[in-house]
Amino acid sequence: MARLIDAGPGCPTPTPSRSASRDGPGGLDYNSQVKAETDHLYPLASDFITPMEWPAIAPLVAAINRLKAEKNAVILAHNYMTPDIFRLVGDIRGDSLQLAREAAEVDADIIVQAGVHFMAETSKVLAPEKTVLIPSLEAGCSLASSITGADVALIKQRYPAYPVVTYVNTTADVKAECHITCTSSNAVQVVEAIAKDWNTDTVILVPDQYLARNVASQTDIRIITWPGACEVHELFSADDVQALRDAHPGVMILAHPECPPDVLEVSDFAGSTAALAHYVSDHNPSKVVLLTECSMSDNVAAENPDVEFVRPCNLCPHMKQITLENIYTCLTDMRHEVEIDEAVRQRAKSAIDAMLALPKLSTPLAFRTGLAAKEIEVI
Ligand code: SF4
Repeated sequence: MARLIDAGPGCPTPTPSRSASRDGPGGLDYNSQVKAETDHLYPLASDFITPMEWPAIAPLVAAINRLKAEKNAVILAHNYMTPDIFRLVGDIRGDSLQLAREAAEVDADIIVQAGVHFMAETSKVLAPEKTVLIPSLEAGCSLASSITGADVALIKQRYPAYPVVTYVNTTADVKAECHITCTSSNAVQVVEAIAKDWNTDTVILVPDQYLARNVASQTDIRIITWPGACEVHELFSADDVQALRDAHPGVMILAHPECPPDVLEVSDFAGSTAALAHYVSDHNPSKVVLLTECSMSDNVAAENPDVEFVRPCNLCPHMKQITLENIYTCLTDMRHEVEIDEAVRQRAKSAIDAMLALPKLSTPLAFRTGLAAKEIEVI
């Protein structure tokens, strides 16, 4: 069951960046220069950082922003980053694919990926000429680590007649073995398009069994999947949804499709992180809960001050490895650089390009809710 917290602004879970004054890099003081450089930024995060904490955090923010300018670097900040990173040092913000696509276009020599390792690999796949840095090697992902390229090679031997679609939350090795990638915004579109291309009624969608089950309920294509799961979203249950409805009459429940199908069945709306954010902006519900990673609510709430957010607090331990401190160190020491074998990179890029060649969706596709789960084959 998810950890449910009816919090005020900001999740009360401690974040590493709050310890900047104790454990952060030395030599960064809160002085008049830092104050002048950062005073205008504080209002962007005042719902998350108290005035007492600001003098410990502002020197890091100022130092990182100076380093970015000196080194022609940009920071790609995923929606699940804490607000200090997302709002104060992030240059490009969004979901993983949006970040990687913009990374390929941006005029910068260095990309710092404020996200997890597979995202940094995707940036390197699409922008091989740029130096891509990941601030912590501990920033993994339960989905990405659930499957290897060798696993996919065996799947293809076992099911040679079926195309293999991989969710973008996988390593470059896995993408290199797959025929096409998908995101949670376009998974149904990709599955239906590749089934048509291959003239088949069956598609293999790896590695997230819950995304695959949710896609299966939206399409007539038969789906075969892999037993991977996101350790954050798999914790939500239909009982959580009922508990939220009981405690907060009238609340709108919005779920990410990495949640189990019984959660989507009883939710009001379901879609990718981009779809959830659009829904809140477009519909302006009086009270809402986002069944996804905790920091997403913090970041969407900042854009929608009239909406009351009820916050189920499931943190991704991998995303939370990224801190202002290690972003700073990564830029000063130029560590940890992401490298990908060129042959693997090219094959992974083909799988991403196959997805990008599909007609671009004007808005992320929503998943219909209220549908009973279908039984599907798990490899
Ligand atoms: S939230 Fe889930 S899918 Fe995203 S990085 Fe964390 S474990 Fe992986």
